[in-house]
Amino acid sequence: MRLLVIEDDPDLNRQLAGALTDAGYVVDRAFDGEEGHYLGETEPYDAVILDIGLPKMDGLSVLESWRRAGRAMPVLILTARDRWSDKVQGFDAGADDYVPKPFHLEEVLARVRALLRRSAGHARSEFNCGPVRLDTRTGRVTVEGNPVKLTSHEYRLLSYLMHHAGRVVSRTELVEHLYDQDFDRDSNTIEVFVGRIRKKVGVDIIQTVRGLGYLLAPPGDAR
Ligand code: CA
Repeated sequence: MRLLVIEDDPDLNRQLAGALTDAGYVVDRAFDGEEGHYLGETEPYDAVILDIGLPKMDGLSVLESWRRAGRAMPVLILTARDRWSDKVQGFDAGADDYVPKPFHLEEVLARVRALLRRSAGHARSEFNCGPVRLDTRTGRVTVEGNPVKLTSHEYRLLSYLMHHAGRVVSRTELVEHLYDQDFDRDSNTIEVFVGRIRKKVGVDIIQTVRGLGYLLAPPGDAR
């Protein structure tokens, strides 16, 4: 899952990006409204954390512009504690959720998890596919209850497929959602990581759909 953090306070930006990276997401960062607006318009993010008070272009204008352009990714806004009008205007501009400042990073993480699973159409923070279970709260993967050790990149890949189980996900889509903007993107490496996940999980849940991409489905649920 690839996220965008737009926050002009450098310390806060760093803390947010650090906590989200530790939680297994790929994070791009912007420090003003113009830069953030551009990234959100051109890159496919799974969710955005958007400060309202930003230099060059304020957060509400950024959000309104994205929504007018049809950008539908979930957006969590950061609002000033006592500005209830920020929240109202934020929701009206197309925000999906908000966190007032100052906040606990844990709350932001929990809200991001909720936004991601809701936008994928799931009500729970655990994802199951046959005997394989992925818990987005703990970042743990088990097969029939036995823990499987995945690298952070393998986890991101499996998590993305879990969030989009039942539909074919192309390699290009995976590359766009698993690497940050500065990464040297090579879709061939995806095949390698899929191979490693298959081996570690030991259950056949990732099907290769020739010429199209990958499909996550319970074993025996072949197409
Ligand atoms: Ca600010």
